[in-house]
Amino acid sequence: MNYRKKFLVEPGAKVRLSKIDASYTGKNETHEKALPKIQAHIERMDTLQYLLYADGSQSLLVVLQALDAAGKDGVVRHVFSGMNPQGTFVFGFKQPSKEEAAHDFLWRVHSRTPAKGEVVIFNRSHYEDVMVVRVHKLVPRSVWSKRYDLINDFETMLSQNGATILKFFLHISPEEQLARFKQRLDDPSRNWKISESDYSERELWPQYVEAYEDAMALTSTKHAPWYVIPANHKWFRNLAISQIIADTMDGMGLQLPPPRVNIADIRRKYHAAEREAKDGEKRRNKAAEKVK
Ligand code: AMP
Ligand code: MG
Repeated sequence: MNYRKKFLVEPGAKVRLSKIDASYTGKNETHEKALPKIQAHIERMDTLQYLLYADGSQSLLVVLQALDAAGKDGVVRHVFSGMNPQGTFVFGFKQPSKEEAAHDFLWRVHSRTPAKGEVVIFNRSHYEDVMVVRVHKLVPRSVWSKRYDLINDFETMLSQNGATILKFFLHISPEEQLARFKQRLDDPSRNWKISESDYSERELWPQYVEAYEDAMALTSTKHAPWYVIPANHKWFRNLAISQIIADTMDGMGLQLPPPRVNIADIRRKYHAAEREAKDGEKRRNKAAEKVK
């Protein structure tokens, strides 16, 4: 199944999250069958990241957005586990610091975008400025409503500078979220993740859904598409995202750059000694044979 097609938010299309089954797990797909596929995607991503780094002319930006406990951290941990930490960076965006808040909303994000050759993952992003900010009325509508155009211009600029951008919304149901919060309560090793606000934010679910639907309809573009990923099942979430990333990177036309030096020359110049040593060894071995 081509998840890149299936979960794409077509540019300009309306999104109705209530019509998308958060528990979807593909056709004839099972956890058991998916595991080796996920592994294969992760290995492809590793090879392609090596090429991206060597090629040095393009970059990849992956944006992860979701409501609490939908699995953003899990995606970072599992889907990117094969990538070389040299050249792969993860940035999480929390409540803006005083300095960040004193700048425009894209300032802190822009400084973290990938340089050529790099992969960057945003765990939350500039989209919080049209999500939590909108839902909690942290700025007036006249301010946040202009941000969709600003975001589109910003992402267009990044893409013209060689960035491929993928944006994932991890779609879970309110019931699944509650079950995951409960797991966090029951498992002492996860207690630290719980915050009071997790529960109060739940009450704003419809407002968040509306904000996400608007944002995805207004900012899914050819060069920076949104994907809605059914995420009630962690293994399926990982399968779909890893496939979409690997397939996208495959299409980037990444190539090993030509060597910057004349390889034959280098061999002649610097490996002559090695050859001589080998020849010498051969001569000595022959001589030793004769003596025997
Ligand atoms: P977590 O990802 O669970 O560590 O939480 C980070 C928190 O920071 C979330 O509650 C976000 O809504 C919040 N946050 C991230 N970006 C912004 C922003 N631009 N304005 C206000 N809150 C934000
Ligand atoms: Mg949280």
